Amino acid sequence: MSADLNMNEIHWLMDMFNTVDVGLVVLDREYKVCVWNGFMENHSGLLPSAVKHKDLFDLFPAIDEKWFRSKSESVFVLKNRSFTIWEQQPYIFRFKNYRPITGKADYMYQNATFIPLTNTRGDVEHICIIIYDVTDVAVNKKELEQLNKKLEQVSQTDSLTQLANRGHWEHTLRQEFLRTKRSGGCSTLLMFDIDHFKKVNDEYGHSCGDEALRHIAKLLKGTLRETDIAGRYGGEEFAITLLDTDKQGAMIIAERLRELIAATPVAYKDQLVSMTVSIGIASYSNEFKNHERWIEAADKALYNSKHNGRNSITMFDDIKNDA
Ligand code: GH3
Ligand code: MG
Ligand code: MG
Repeated sequence: MSADLNMNEIHWLMDMFNTVDVGLVVLDREYKVCVWNGFMENHSGLLPSAVKHKDLFDLFPAIDEKWFRSKSESVFVLKNRSFTIWEQQPYIFRFKNYRPITGKADYMYQNATFIPLTNTRGDVEHICIIIYDVTDVAVNKKELEQLNKKLEQVSQTDSLTQLANRGHWEHTLRQEFLRTKRSGGCSTLLMFDIDHFKKVNDEYGHSCGDEALRHIAKLLKGTLRETDIAGRYGGEEFAITLLDTDKQGAMIIAERLRELIAATPVAYKDQLVSMTVSIGIASYSNEFKNHERWIEAADKALYNSKHNGRNSITMFDDIKNDA
């Protein structure tokens, strides 16, 4: 201690050292604890007398020794400060989190600063580690990230059917269009529209219509593969991108879907309401300038199915030369 410090000042410094809301630890070259302040005592439950001259890694076996040594070594040798942040390593000392507001975290998240302590000769024989409790920040950030994820998911989902909404589905189709164009794969677009859906609403009411749309979405989810992307394109119009599926493969899926929907009425109150769908199919072609042309092709095929009496399937290739 400097001679300038009188006894009062030393007393104050000790008070501040023990009440400051950061952890202060001094380690020697052998990683033995030399100094341990009140924050460290309170959170670890270990008195300074219990840790003094003890090996840090014996006291806290959960510390990643290799990582901790390499962090500290540069401070000893290069006499530079060094930092750790919770995003890299949630904590150095595994302390329980007792804060009520941030009760969602089991452990205290910590940032830390390692500073070199020089002796009178200017050599670094000790380092000081300052531990900051950043649990609030970490929990907030994590919650925000979760919220953003949820928000992203909601913004991509049709609330009635839980399928991809039009915007998101079109986005994924565009990706698939570009991918297929580059790599020359074969993916197929399938679009279908419920036949005479207006009648379902008119005869059974709008909420029956809603239930019917959910029912169709459920049937869709049950038949498609994990890689197929199904979306609600419009009111009662659905679109599915069948990845790596050629015309023949798509035709089989379309036929299965058409039959399934026709054979599975929706139960609404005491009634069973049957529906059919008209389907249009368009496989990827180099002739499509962009993904919108691809959609137009499937849509054109769909309307051909409507004109052919509904409850049927049309392949774009079979009608593309028609006027
Ligand atoms: P078509 O066989 O030619 O397709 O006949 P349609 O009656 O299905 O076609 P139209 O386009 O005339 O009617 C579609 C109906 O779908 C009209 C609209 O009220 C209904 N609809 C669209 N979205 C919803 C929805 O979210 N819920 C309900 N209940 N009905 C919807
Ligand atoms: Mg319709
Ligand atoms: Mg329609």
